[in-house]
Amino acid sequence: MKIINVAIDGPAGAGKSTISRKAAAELGYIYIDTGALYRTVGLNALRKGADLQSDEAIIATITDDLKVELKFIDGEQRMFLSDEDVSDKIRTPEASMAASRVSAVPKVREFLFDLQKKLARENNCVMDGRDIGTVVLPDADVKIFLTASPEARAERRFKELTEKGMDVKYEDVLADMIKRDYDDSHRAIAPLKQADDAILCDTSNIGLEESIALIIKTIKDNI
Ligand code: C5P
Repeated sequence: MKIINVAIDGPAGAGKSTISRKAAAELGYIYIDTGALYRTVGLNALRKGADLQSDEAIIATITDDLKVELKFIDGEQRMFLSDEDVSDKIRTPEASMAASRVSAVPKVREFLFDLQKKLARENNCVMDGRDIGTVVLPDADVKIFLTASPEARAERRFKELTEKGMDVKYEDVLADMIKRDYDDSHRAIAPLKQADDAILCDTSNIGLEESIALIIKTIKDNI
């Protein structure tokens, strides 16, 4: 049977993970959050005390014994760093910024590329990230570019973080979001951009349920 791959790319906070997870469940596919891979490598660099301004220092953290694993437990993706479940620890603002920083280093992208390809080759999946439709799965059956205004995205991320009990300010979340967008779309390697054949979906003015329905319909109409 043919394996179906759906690629969903877009900036931080566009609702990609929530929407992709729901869409995958509806279709009976697995959901793969590739941002979690970069976050795990970022957390590893933070823990090793690497100077994140330096590509060399980041590259030095990609050692032969670095073990980054993605496992599905009760159908949910969990991230493991050298056998430790770091799925929650990679969600802090520091880990977000570290992920964005390490993801601009070609060696890091190379390190994670095969893992993403293998998962897509073996599973019907909805994979979300920044470069899935452009670099990782250029032949994906359906490509969606999911976006929303920076303010709408910052508001959603602020709500998510405060609900988790984190002490953050909306202005800081918005500033981080704008910086991450800029860095992600201006880096030399695999920048965030809409693939030529991707369908654009803007969720600035629609709620979550409506966005989920829109994406599911878009996927079903195109596979
Ligand atoms: O999607 P999420 O916000 O968890 O991603 C964290 C960071 O990882 C992003 O800001 C981006 O820099 C990087 N990333 C990437 N390519 C992907 C997924 C995420 O460069 N496919």
